[in-house]
Amino acid sequence: MIRKTRLFTPGPTPLLPAAQFAMAAADIHHRTAEFRALYERVLGQLKTFVGTKNDVLLLASSGTGAMEAAVSNLTSPGDRVLVLTAGKFGERWEALTKAFGCAVDVVSAPYGETFVAEQVKAALKGETKAVFVQATESSTAVRHDVAGTAKLLKGAGSEALLIVDAITGLGTTKLDVDGWGVDAIIGGSQKAVMIPPGLAYLSLSDRAWKVAETSRNPRYYFDLRKERKNARKGESSYTPAVALIAALGASLDWIAAQGGGDLVAGREALVDNAETCAAMTRAAVEALGLRLFGRGPYAAAATAVLAPEGVDSGVLVKELKSRFGAIVTNGQGEMKGKLFRIAHIGLFDYMDTIGILAALEQVAAANLKLPGFAWGKAVATAQQVYAERTSVAAAELVNA
Ligand SMILES: *Cc1c(COP(=O)(O)O)cnc(C)c1O
Repeated sequence: MIRKTRLFTPGPTPLLPAAQFAMAAADIHHRTAEFRALYERVLGQLKTFVGTKNDVLLLASSGTGAMEAAVSNLTSPGDRVLVLTAGKFGERWEALTKAFGCAVDVVSAPYGETFVAEQVKAALKGETKAVFVQATESSTAVRHDVAGTAKLLKGAGSEALLIVDAITGLGTTKLDVDGWGVDAIIGGSQKAVMIPPGLAYLSLSDRAWKVAETSRNPRYYFDLRKERKNARKGESSYTPAVALIAALGASLDWIAAQGGGDLVAGREALVDNAETCAAMTRAAVEALGLRLFGRGPYAAAATAVLAPEGVDSGVLVKELKSRFGAIVTNGQGEMKGKLFRIAHIGLFDYMDTIGILAALEQVAAANLKLPGFAWGKAVATAQQVYAERTSVAAAELVNA
């Protein structure tokens, strides 16, 4: 049979057609009224999407650029910071803060798990200036407790800034940025907003802006003070990624349309969509006789599935691609060969989710000897989860 190539990867994610058209049409110069109107509109929409009253800034970089900007603007050499890590992206916080000369304390949890609050509390010191964490750790498909961490910091009377990499958290999990007291939140274009890689966005709290004013790190391209000053005039400090910004505007319009024209409702619908795709997938792979990686709490951004004992997960990744055009990701680093990940972040719907699970049944039938395998078991389980979740949602609407 012919194969359509489809991404099932947690970044880059599938592109929204409306955003692709907007990109192709974005033949405008950035020092014009036309661009300023676009930029101001998109920055305003992003505030709503992130869910903050604070400015959201856009940077022409991958997500890691905004992570670096958070470190260079919000710490100074010698600052004591605490990194919470349980995967490849947590390790990136550790490497970044060390690169900028912080004195780094680390609380780690095994891959596939999240931190124990008691350990975080014990590691927090009076002089801890910042705490770094992921909302969802994409390498293990685990969700961390941002609300709980914020509460813990408040409860301990800590003055530390809470800096959250929500690059796969935004659009897949509920985040009350201002309400919880998150001081820096970071997103990336190639994730929930369904456009190509190349843009990062972030927002800082008032407290964080105060720290940014006095940081002793050298900053130039990623000087957030300068970027905010320009953004408030509808400008970016340097040549912005014009086409991606046009795409982002189209994508945020589309998300708003999912909420009947309301971007907050649209964002909630996007989160709910990812949660439903993830719940369908988790139940289905277990019904198939495979095991989820780790103990969770599981993220909705992606699902990490263990290859059976003695099977290289790379073989399953290859089979899904060569037989069905489905691109799933292998494990990263030491998880390579052990697990594969199916994404739900962004533009994945019922049809996509049922499709990848049906393809996985084919690969399992041909390549794995799973005890109790029967055709349709995974798909039927996913169908049931879908029906239950969507009928509960429908009933809630009726009762509201
Ligand atoms: C994708 C991702 C990043 C950013 O990676 P880039 O390749 O720099 O865009 C950071 N953190 C998490 C959790 C991610 O999923």
